[in-house]
Amino acid sequence: MELNAFTVNGKKKIKLEDFSTDFTGGIKSKKEAEKKLARNIEKMAELQNKLYAHDKYSLLIIFQAMDAAGKDSAIKHVMSGVNPQGTQVFSFKQPSAEELDHDFLWRTTKALPERGRIGIFNRSYYEEVLVVKVHNLVQNQKIPAEFVTENIWKERYEQIRDFEKHISMSGTKVIKFFLNVSKDEQKKRFLKRLETPSKNWKFSAADLAERKLWNKYQKSYEDAINATSTKLAPWHIIPADNKWFARLVISEVINDTLESLKMEYPKLNEEQMQNLGMYKAELEKD
Ligand code: ATP
Ligand code: MG
Repeated sequence: MELNAFTVNGKKKIKLEDFSTDFTGGIKSKKEAEKKLARNIEKMAELQNKLYAHDKYSLLIIFQAMDAAGKDSAIKHVMSGVNPQGTQVFSFKQPSAEELDHDFLWRTTKALPERGRIGIFNRSYYEEVLVVKVHNLVQNQKIPAEFVTENIWKERYEQIRDFEKHISMSGTKVIKFFLNVSKDEQKKRFLKRLETPSKNWKFSAADLAERKLWNKYQKSYEDAINATSTKLAPWHIIPADNKWFARLVISEVINDTLESLKMEYPKLNEEQMQNLGMYKAELEKD
């Protein structure tokens, strides 16, 4: 699949309204997408194995979206084939008192994946320029007043860019997904949560309050994406009205990224190879 259409690498400013939420890239049915996804999941398992054996890179996958865009289920489906020992998912909610006693990158930095591993962030430090900006929560953050100026968002974008450059150059490959769902589709999904007993628990009154701020959030996403898309750590704007299509594109981006690292299994030197021969002979005699 041609993935360039979904990728923002900082060369050009984007407008979110130019990105379709219901594009399906010529894929005709959910079934067709699921077949392709299953193949990608197998490939991902192999690539993860290589990542682990190669032991130089780690992969950080960030998911950001409006409520009900399908972050949780995308994580569940796309990552279903990878080895749980090499993967960790972290969900970031409203910060605790302890977290607020540190800088805004502290809690996510502690959760970064080790070399050879995949780390998934369900929400991330990007909340610090999204919900925190929309609700102006910076007032509650105990930051010294001299640093809380009108430039704070620009400064945070810059801090995030620097941080991502820093971890990239240490071997952490960063992939950022914005699941781009339409306001109508969100309404449908909320209604389904309200009408289906097994989904009732997913609905929260806060979701309706946030929905009222839809435009403010869209603008904050657009600004954040424009300010923090780089070649090293691009954003991917994923059409998310059809969950099956979103999952397929996500799996393709992850596999493409892992393949671009051109990793090989470690090769043994001549002496080590000879030793293997000896061990084999010894075992066979046993
Ligand atoms: P679901 O899709 O199941 O609702 P969720 O990711 O929305 O999952 P919730 O527990 O509903 O999980 O919400 C977490 C809330 O925490 C979100 O509203 C998010 O904006 C908020 N949050 C995350 N990080 C921060 C932060 N740094 N400061 C303030 N609020 C934050
Ligand atoms: Mg929620």
